[in-house]
Order: sequence, then structure tokens, then C-alpha cells
Amino acid sequence: MYQERLFTPGPVEIPDRVREALGRQIIHHRTEEFRRAFLEVRELLKRLLDDPSENFVFFSSSGTGAMEAAILNFFEEGQKVLVVNGGKFGERWFLLAKHWGLEVVEYRLDWGKSADPEKVKDLLKKHPDCKGVLLQISETSTGAYHPVEDIAEVCKSADALLVADAITALGVYNLKPSVGIDVMVGGSQKALMLPPGLSLLWFSQKAKERLKDRAFYFSVKKELGKQQEGQTAWTPAISLLLALKESLSLLLQEGMERVEKRYRAMSEGTKRAISAFGLEVFPERPAISITAVKSDDAERIRKELLRHGIRIAGGQDHLKGKIFRVSHMGVSEKDMLMLIGVLEVVLKRLGYPVELGSGVCRYSQTLVEFGLW
Ligand SMILES: *Cc1c(COP(=O)(O)O)cnc(C)c1O
Repeated sequence: MYQERLFTPGPVEIPDRVREALGRQIIHHRTEEFRRAFLEVRELLKRLLDDPSENFVFFSSSGTGAMEAAILNFFEEGQKVLVVNGGKFGERWFLLAKHWGLEVVEYRLDWGKSADPEKVKDLLKKHPDCKGVLLQISETSTGAYHPVEDIAEVCKSADALLVADAITALGVYNLKPSVGIDVMVGGSQKALMLPPGLSLLWFSQKAKERLKDRAFYFSVKKELGKQQEGQTAWTPAISLLLALKESLSLLLQEGMERVEKRYRAMSEGTKRAISAFGLEVFPERPAISITAVKSDDAERIRKELLRHGIRIAGGQDHLKGKIFRVSHMGVSEKDMLMLIGVLEVVLKRLGYPVELGSGVCRYSQTLVEFGLW
């Protein structure tokens, strides 16, 4: 009867204003109309990143495409990189780098742990020939945050480019690549609240000076000049680019400081509700885009929520059945309250000693405390 609600870490629900843009008739891309709209999108992104540089390109792909583009455009076969591997997406960096013939120094973390900047520093000392440090800002598979600013600090004195997968961070955190990020990857279907199919690759001047020419489709060299002029090398994801104008405008209208604060409040409120239920958040240092919760009943909880029309995510690989994940991306504060209300009923039914209203109460108190309500 009702539309199923998504609290999954991609795809996320799409705001009405963005959906309206998506519902419009397609326009041709080799036109002045497209060129103008695309240039506007580029201006909005520059404002979001608080960075005047034109060093970024969009690709028509899911996020992994831009990850592959990062490897192909900034590194060569045989070059050494350090990969922070603390989950499914860290593992993806590892596999991609291997696939394209890079030599990988693996900084392996137990899933749920966050990278230690001191350890990164030590590894870079041990491997001064490292040309890159690859990590996730928010490791979506475990809900862990890797402290990108501190790691950027460590990378500054090294030769290495800091390559940050910001797919569940850009649009959540008030993230400025000027903290020392050299290459940043974004994707459409998570924090940017669009359908899948559009990805982003941003890079610093230092990275630009190291541009390689190894990719055919995912070539920054082919795209950059064109995109700066409001055009693309291939047929772009026209509708997604036009819709991105709306989602970027929404974020900018609210202001990234306020957006981050809202995510912080939702994440903290959820964490407090979870502990009221006697459950524990999985990662030691949670990202604010998603809350992963430890529970051997994870799959039962997920399925029960689904019966109520609420879709969350389970764990991946060895965490399947061990955690459940609730995304805050594209979710309003009020909808989060609804989820917590249903979750406490579900848990009570499953025999947890939950007092109905306890999670909702803690969540609301947190939002009041944060000044959001
Ligand atoms: C979703 C995601 C990706 C890329 O996934 P796609 O399915 O290719 O869009 C990469 N990194 C992180 C952290 C993600 O959450």
C-alpha cells in the first residue's frame, strides 16, 4: 500500500525537487542550454567545495568507475601505493590498484576500526617511494570514519597523493579538499541524493601535475578541457547532471555547516537510542552518514523492518548477520525518528528488554540538545 522507505546506504531516497528535475523531458547535450546548465552545476560544486579550481570532471558511471579513474589517471603500473583496507570499499581500492599493476602496501584494519594517522606516518616512512595513500573517508561497509584531515597532515610531507573516496562523505561532511586531499571521488546515489550513474573526480594542482594518459573512457585529459567549457567527451548522463544542480542547490541553501550538524545530530541521536535498546554501535569511530549496529539478530531485525515497509542494510561478507546498517543520507530528522519508533517495537517483539518510547525519547532529546529542534 505504501511506498517502501529507504534507509539504505545507497541508493538513498531522492528529494522531490530533484525528482521533478529528473522527470523533465531530456534535452540534447550539444546545445547552449545544456552547456549553460552544466557550467552552473560546476559553479555550484566549486561553492560546495569552497574551492575555485576547475580541476574536476564527471563521469557516467557508478562510484567505482571514478575510483578506477583515480587509479588510471594519477598512477602508473609498478608505482607503489598505500591502501587503507578496513572494509569492503577499502578492499576495492586494494583490488583496483592490484588490477592495474600497482604495487600495494596494505594497511589492513579489522573491520570497524579506523585508520591511525601515526601508523600511516610510519608506513610512509618505511616506504618513502609510496606515490599515493588511498582510503575511504566514510567506510560504508562498517560505518567507520577514517580521520582524513589528520592523515592529510601526515601525507603533506610525503611524496604521496592522498586519494580519498568521499562517496558517503561529500554532501554529509562540510568537506574541504583544501585540508590536503589530492584526489577525491564522489558518486551520485548516496550523499548527493540522486539515482546511480554519475561519478565525480576532483584533484589538486599537485595531482594535476602527475596526470597520466592511460585511460580511454575514464580519461581526465580528454574530459577536463571540454568540461570546463560546459561540454563532455562522450554523451554525458544528461538528466543526472541537470538533477545534480537541484541537489547541490539544496545542500548550499541549507549550508554545509548546517548539513553536517544535522547529520551529526541524527547520528548521535541514533547512537543514543541504540544504547537505550541495549545494543552497541559497531565501529569504534562512527561516520555520521551511517550507523552500523552490532547484533546477531541483524538479519531478523532487517527482515522485520522490511515487513513494516522500511528497508535498511545488513552486513557484507563476514559481517552478514552480525551487523545492520541504517543510512542517514537523504533521510530527514523526522523520518529518522519514525525509524527508531518502529525499530523499538521490532526489538521488543523479538524479545529485547526495550521500553517503548525510550529510543524515541533519547533521539528527540539529542536533536533538541543539538539545537535542531
Ligand atoms: C557505494 C560506495 C562506493 C561505490 O559503489 P558503486 O556501487 O560503484 O557506486 C565506493 N565507496 C564507498 C565508500 C561507497 O559507499
